[in-house]
This record gives sequence, C-alpha cells and structure tokens, in this order.
Amino acid sequence: MTPPGNAPQRKYDLLLKNGRVIDPSKPMDQVADVAILDGKIAAIEQDIDVKRSRRTINVAGLVVCPGLIDLHVHCNLYKNPESLDPTAAGVYTGVTRMVDPGDNGAYTFQAFRKAVIESTPTRIHSWLNAAGLGGFMYGLYNTDVCLHPTLIDVDAAVEIARLYPDFIAGIKTYCAPEGWGSPDGTEVYTRALAIADRARLPLYIHSGSPSPEGYQAYGGRPMLYGEEVTREQALTKMLEMLRPGDVVAHPFSTFAGTVWNSVEKRVSHGVREAYARGVRFDSGRGAHYSFAVVRNLMNAGVLPYTLSSDRHAEDNHDEFVRRASVGLCQHMSEFLAFGMSLSDVIMRATWNPAKVLRVQDRAGSLHLDKPAEIAILALRDGNWTLQDAPFFGKAPGTLKAKQLLTPVMTVVDHRVYPINPAFLPDLVEIQVQEDVWSWMKERPPHHTSYEPVK
Ligand SMILES: [Zn+2]
Repeated sequence: MTPPGNAPQRKYDLLLKNGRVIDPSKPMDQVADVAILDGKIAAIEQDIDVKRSRRTINVAGLVVCPGLIDLHVHCNLYKNPESLDPTAAGVYTGVTRMVDPGDNGAYTFQAFRKAVIESTPTRIHSWLNAAGLGGFMYGLYNTDVCLHPTLIDVDAAVEIARLYPDFIAGIKTYCAPEGWGSPDGTEVYTRALAIADRARLPLYIHSGSPSPEGYQAYGGRPMLYGEEVTREQALTKMLEMLRPGDVVAHPFSTFAGTVWNSVEKRVSHGVREAYARGVRFDSGRGAHYSFAVVRNLMNAGVLPYTLSSDRHAEDNHDEFVRRASVGLCQHMSEFLAFGMSLSDVIMRATWNPAKVLRVQDRAGSLHLDKPAEIAILALRDGNWTLQDAPFFGKAPGTLKAKQLLTPVMTVVDHRVYPINPAFLPDLVEIQVQEDVWSWMKERPPHHTSYEPVK
C-alpha cells in the first residue's frame, strides 16, 4: 500500500510563469506563477517548478490579471448590424466575459442564447431590454422598437429573467427624451422598474441623447408628466428614482443635458446624490465620448465604477458607428493617461464589473479553486496620441499616453487564446499589437510547448 505522502501528484495542465500578477480584489501586485488544473486556478506561488506542469508559458514582463469583463459590447450578430463577433471581440482581446447592452428583449433572448451565447468561448450576459424586441434591429432604430411604453411586456421580461438568472444581468432602459420624457411621462421607466423589482435585478440606464428627431417625434420638446422639461431635468428626475446598485451608462457623453452639464460647466443636478447613494456609473465609452468630460467629472470627484467599451462593428459604413470601435484595453489605457493607477484601472474592468454581474464566485479575481478566466496583457511604454469620439462636426479631443495596455492572450478553463492582430480594428491597437506580436515571437520558448497561432 502506498502511503498518501508518496502518491504521485497530478501535473498541472498549464503554468503561467513569472508574470506580474495583479488582482485588485485581494489586492495583489507581485511577480508570481499561476498554475491551472481542470480549468481551475490551482496555485499562485512565488516559484512553481516547471516539471510540475504539462505545459508552461513564459509570461515574464507581462501583466497577468483576471479576465477582463466588458459590461457593454454590441454582440448580437444576427439582429444588430452594428455588432461584433463576440469571440473576436472577446477572448481574443483580453475580454473573457461581456454583456449585451440591451439589443435583446424577452422576445429575442432565446434566439440570442442559441445563436450567440452557446457558440462562443466568451462568457456572455445580457442587459435584457425592457422592450420585448430589444434595441437595434435591422432597419429599425431604438425609437421604433423600445422607447414607447406599449412595446414593454413586463410579464414576458420577468419570465425570461427567472428562466435565465445566470445570463440576465439586469434590465436595460433609456433616459432619453424620446422615451423617458415622452408624452407618456415616466411610463417607459416605471415599466422597466416594475420588471427589475419583480425579477430582483438592477436597472442599466442609457443616458445621453443627441436626438432632435426624438424631440420632434413628440412635438419638439422633451416632456415629463405632460410638462416640457430640459434634458437635465429628465435626467435628474430619473436619478432620483434609481436604487443603490442600479447602473447609469455613458456618464462621459459629449451630449448636452447628461451627467456633465457642458453648457453651465458643472455636474448635473442629482448626480452627486445618486453617486453617494450607491448608484454606479459605467463608462460605456462608445460613440459620444469626450476626454474633456472625463477630465471635468474626475476633477469633480465623479469616477466610473466600471470601464466598458460600448464597442460596435468597425467595418460599418456609418461614421458614428465606426467611432465606437475601441476595445476595452485601449479604454483602460485612457484612464492610465488620466492618472488613475494600474490597479484601479484593472479593478474597474475585473472585480467591479464582477460585482455588478454578481459573479464574484466565478470571475473577476484570481482566487484558488475558482474557474480560470485570466487575461495576459502587455503594458507598453512609449508615446501615443489617443482620440475620443466627439459627435459629428467636431474635431476629436486628444490625449497623450505614455503607457498602453494591449491584450496578449487569455486563458478560459484550460484553453489558451492568443491574440491575432487581425482581430483588432483600431489603428493604434494594430500598430502596438504587431509590435507585441513580433516581440512575442522573438521571446525564447522558455519551457513552453505553446506556439502562437498566426
Ligand atoms: Zn451601446
């Protein structure tokens, strides 16, 4: 009989050697080895012998952190023409988990689950649109499919939320004059809130509207309770009704009457109170995002709880859509350039969004025995000029960056997904990625059986 102490130890499936391991949930920032066995994190130690693993990847000089969680990516390829492939935009850009930002509602979620969620290694959640048809559809814009109270089917949405608690992150609706301030008063919002209350889920609110057409559709002005209001008044009223844990997207919008009042150069009324009460602000970078607004809000002490890309298809003919094709790593780099620490930036793309999604037991950190969802990133020194995404007719704002985070590979369960530069549409990222790529190829294959895929 073999004594237990002499039993042959099972080898790890994968060893990530000598990386700079950053896990803001602990917090931890030190050079260490990470071992994976049976798709779970089996050890994080100073020096793990390579003989104890079947496969080792040398990640010296790279950042090893929890897989990035992007709370806002348009990924419903079969419904929204502005969508990205969730595999290419997910595990191949450092993002192991992403959330559909309401392109799906109760009537379309089942198709989304079959066609998208079940066919990608990227973990997908959904901000279920309060409106049954969800947001964007081919040939129809949001005003047609989700900004009228009669389009909201409370019972159907509650049913889907109950059937799929692992996938439904919360309920999406809009603080836009076309909906929230329509002649129907608060009806769109109160119906969304009814779904969220019955399903015990947070709300995810789009803020910001360019939309003169939206006003015109309802007589030319935003309305609330049948009275004409400014966009800021509509925002303030909505913020008062939000609960701790609810999420407001796009605080850095360049549009007037949003979280930053760009006309009167101040934080809009109700924002500080909501912020103090535990309402969370998700950056939702996207197409109407302004560096100037980021600076103003950060100076005023209003920080995003989470960083998300609001990424759209890069090959779209629409300039507005193409501007919204920046990945999460580059968005994180912007906040490094604004002076936020690396750990705080990573926390806003890992641990904080895990808390928003209530998935701390399986994502957002590098704790022992948790499923492996890991991002390996390069933090590159250099000089870059980044651009924001102003609305039409204005020159983009610029931001000097001395460091750029770029994805190198991800690990989900026991599988490794190396980055292919072809997946990265943004010019700045392509340039840097090719740089990282050639650098990776030149690295000595120190104890590694891993070959990058071209
Ligand atoms: Zn969006």
